[in-house]
Amino acid sequence: MNNIDLSEKNIFFIEDKIEDFGLFIKSFPTLNQINIYNFDNFINVIKQKKSNLTRRNTLIILAFDFLNNEILEKIKSIFFETYEIKKPYFLCIFRKEPDSLEKENLIKGEAFYYIIPEREYFNSNFFYFNFCQFVEIVFEKIVSSDRINDYIIKSFQIIADTYIINKQKKQIEKLYFDLELMSKVDYLTNVLNKKAFFESLESEKKRTLRDLWRIKGIKNDIEKEKEEVINEKPDFTNLLENYGKFSCMMIDIDFFKKINDTYGHLVGDQVLRKIGELLTSKAIFREHDIIGRYGGEEFIVILPETSSKNALIPAERLRTGIKEIIFSDEKSNTFYLSLSIGISEFYSTDKNNEEIIGRADKALYYAKRQGRDQTIIYEDIVDKIN
Ligand code: GH3
Ligand code: MG
Ligand code: MG
Repeated sequence: MNNIDLSEKNIFFIEDKIEDFGLFIKSFPTLNQINIYNFDNFINVIKQKKSNLTRRNTLIILAFDFLNNEILEKIKSIFFETYEIKKPYFLCIFRKEPDSLEKENLIKGEAFYYIIPEREYFNSNFFYFNFCQFVEIVFEKIVSSDRINDYIIKSFQIIADTYIINKQKKQIEKLYFDLELMSKVDYLTNVLNKKAFFESLESEKKRTLRDLWRIKGIKNDIEKEKEEVINEKPDFTNLLENYGKFSCMMIDIDFFKKINDTYGHLVGDQVLRKIGELLTSKAIFREHDIIGRYGGEEFIVILPETSSKNALIPAERLRTGIKEIIFSDEKSNTFYLSLSIGISEFYSTDKNNEEIIGRADKALYYAKRQGRDQTIIYEDIVDKIN
């Protein structure tokens, strides 16, 4: 039963009428280590400021007739001012069962109560034993309720810590995200920088090669169906026109040097920024198209699942669209721009990325030589240049 350490425990009796109870406690085997303070020495003890007095090891015992709010508040304030014990534990001794209102007040004040047994038991061994056991139970309750309090406080601390850690984690993740974005995006035009572009090109190439393997399977199925002469064959023509393909587009601003020379580099930068906006606006390209800045005034785009013939559509949309934009400098001098564009399709025989880019570049320079402001598909001119 007695599994708590009762040394260093303190009991204060706040009325001389019940001081005899202290004698019982002192002579009870398991309670005799408790320090007992009677009403007389109560004030002296308070003045001594015993440093080891805590809420957990202190019990104030008072008689029912002594119990009124004014006295309770006074006692509480003494304990708080001297020992910083905000809510000391009370044990109230009753001569009869407290009525429901008294009980309610006791429970609200987190006080314990003990009812003195009938007259015949008073001063008997039974009463003495019973009361001391009760005090023991009270201390056990105090210790365990304090443990629960500690546990609750600790749990809240853990919740608070977790919240803070999660918040910090989110901030760090955001920072990484921003850093990653910064390391991928060209500061001036907001499209991918060359390194990030090549990474995306690499994964697009792998995806396309995987698709080509799948197409092989589909083609075999079609052949099989032809042999079996099935009337309602699925039409894969449209699908196979773009599936397993991707195109590369090189875009170069015509006579950009002249813009810099005439209006200054800052205006040149503004032009590049504006073109970056147009390229990423979704008005020209699809969401999955990969747009990068290849060099000074050269942009490069990968169009997944698009043949070079179909890549001509957004290319022409861009080329004609840019010609309608009126550019101006700070003095409101206006000028127009045109673009030359070269397109090539991915070949599964390509050994490296330079091959498709090289073909698109050849088409671009063909467009330049032919007079600029035009889109050339490499596959259309391959016979003429080789
Ligand atoms: P072409 O029609 O043959 O392409 O003529 P071009 O003048 O556009 O070509 P060229 O390659 O001779 O000149 C490109 C110019 O782009 C040269 C360079 O000063 C300019 N340039 C490159 N990067 C930037 C940049 O970030 N900002 C600005 N303002 N100019 C740039
Ligand atoms: Mg150039
Ligand atoms: Mg140029």
